[in-house]
Amino acid sequence: MSWGTPFSGQRFAVVGLGRAGLASAVALAAMGADVVAWDDKDAARDAAVAAGIAVAQPDWTVTNALALSPGIPHRLPRPHPMAEAAIAHGVPVWTDAELLFRAVRATGSEARFAGITGTNGKSTTTALLAHILTQAGIPNEAGANLGTPALALPLLGDNGVYVLEMSSYMLERLASLRFAAAAMLNLSADHLDRHGDMGGYAAAKAHVFDRQTGADLAVVGIDDAWSQAMAQRLASGPAKLVRISQHDTPTARGRALPGAHNAQNIAAATALARALGADDAAINRGIESFPGLPHRQEIVTVRNGIPWINDSKATNADSTAWALACHDRIIWIAGGTAKEGGIESLAPYFPRIAHALLIGRDAPMLAATLAGQDVPHSVAGTLENAVTTARGMTGDCVLLSPACASWDQFTGFDQRGDRFRALAQALPGEAV
Ligand code: ADP
Repeated sequence: MSWGTPFSGQRFAVVGLGRAGLASAVALAAMGADVVAWDDKDAARDAAVAAGIAVAQPDWTVTNALALSPGIPHRLPRPHPMAEAAIAHGVPVWTDAELLFRAVRATGSEARFAGITGTNGKSTTTALLAHILTQAGIPNEAGANLGTPALALPLLGDNGVYVLEMSSYMLERLASLRFAAAAMLNLSADHLDRHGDMGGYAAAKAHVFDRQTGADLAVVGIDDAWSQAMAQRLASGPAKLVRISQHDTPTARGRALPGAHNAQNIAAATALARALGADDAAINRGIESFPGLPHRQEIVTVRNGIPWINDSKATNADSTAWALACHDRIIWIAGGTAKEGGIESLAPYFPRIAHALLIGRDAPMLAATLAGQDVPHSVAGTLENAVTTARGMTGDCVLLSPACASWDQFTGFDQRGDRFRALAQALPGEAV
C-alpha cells in the first residue's frame, strides 16, 4: 500500500534531527509536505541536507505544525527557543506519532492504534503485543519510542494495528491521535526535570487515554499509588477499564518473561490483544513463543547448564532489583556510572549474590556497599575480566545487570550488552 501525498499543501517544521527526526523529515517530504528542518548541531544539519531536506530557520507565520524531537523540551526545564517561537505564533507542537495518525487517516485507512506507556516495561509490552497480534494473524507494525520511528512505519489497511511505545515526552504532543487500546503500566519517579514533579509526570502519562470513547480500552497497572489513582479517575469511563497487576497469574509464561514485573507486562499485553481481536489461543501461543528483547534479561548462552543473562538495560538499582529477584545464587556483574544512592536499595537481594564482579568507574563505591554487608565481591574493572572470572565460579546464573549507566566504558547500554553477549558466546567449550 502506498502513502500517496496525504500532506500536500501542508508546511511542517522538523526540529531535532536525530534518527527519528531525520526519518520524520524524509517521510513528511515524501508524503507531499513542504518541510523545513533544523538542528542546533552542524553535523545533523549536514545529514539532513544530504538527505535532500531543506535546512533553515522555519517561518512560523506559514508553518502548520512543529514536529519536535522528544528529547527537546517545549516547556520544562526551559523551552527550546524554536519551540518557544512556534508556541508564540500559535503553531502546535506535535510528536511524530500524531503525524503518523493524521497520515493514516488522510489516506482513508481505519487502522487502529494501540499505545503503551509507563515508567518501566514499555518496550517489553509493546514487543509482546506485536508478537501476539502476529500470532493471531492481525497485521501490525510496532515502533515509536521503541525501534522504528513512527513516521518510518509502513501504511496499514483498515484491519491493521499500529503498536506504539509512547514516552511521557511524546504523550504531551498529541492533538488528535486516539488509541483504541491504551495501557499505562506503572509510575515511579523519572524525568521529573521535564515534568516539574510527580504530578506533572503522571499527568503526561495519562494523555495516553485522551479522546478515548466507549468503544476503546484503558489498561492501568495498580501496583503503585500514582497508577491506582489514575485507574480510579478512569473508572467513570468513557473507555472500558481493565486493572492489571504483577500479582495476576498469567495463563502462559514462556522462557523470555520471568518475574513479577513481567507478569504485569503479560497481563497488559493480554488485555490489549483481546480488545484488538486476538483469541486466547493466539495470546497464549504468543506469550510462550515470545523471544524477548535484547538487553532485558536476555539469555545469551547456557554453559554447563548455567544461563548467562544480559540485562544491560538495567541502568539503575530499581531495574536491577527485578532481575535479582528472579534467581537465588547469582554471579552478578555490576557497575559503571552509579545513580544517586548507588546499590544500597538492593540490600534485600544481597543474600542471593554468590559473588559480585564489579566493573567501571564506580566499582570502588559499590564494593564499599557490599563489604559493609559481607557480600562476596571483587573488582574486575572491565567487562572482559568479569566474564573470564565469572566462568570459573559456582552459581545458578551469570547476570549482567549493572544498576549503573554505561557511559564511562561504553557508548550506551546496548553496546555494553552486545559486548557481554559476544564475550559469553565466545567462551571456550560447548553451549549447553
Ligand atoms: P522500558 O521500555 O519502559 O524502559 P523495558 O521493557 O525495556 O522497559 O524494561 C526495562 C527494564 O525495566 C527491564 O530490564 C526490567 O528490569 C524492568 N521492567 C520491565 N518491566 C517492568 C514492569 N512492568 N515493572 C517494573 N519494572 C519492569
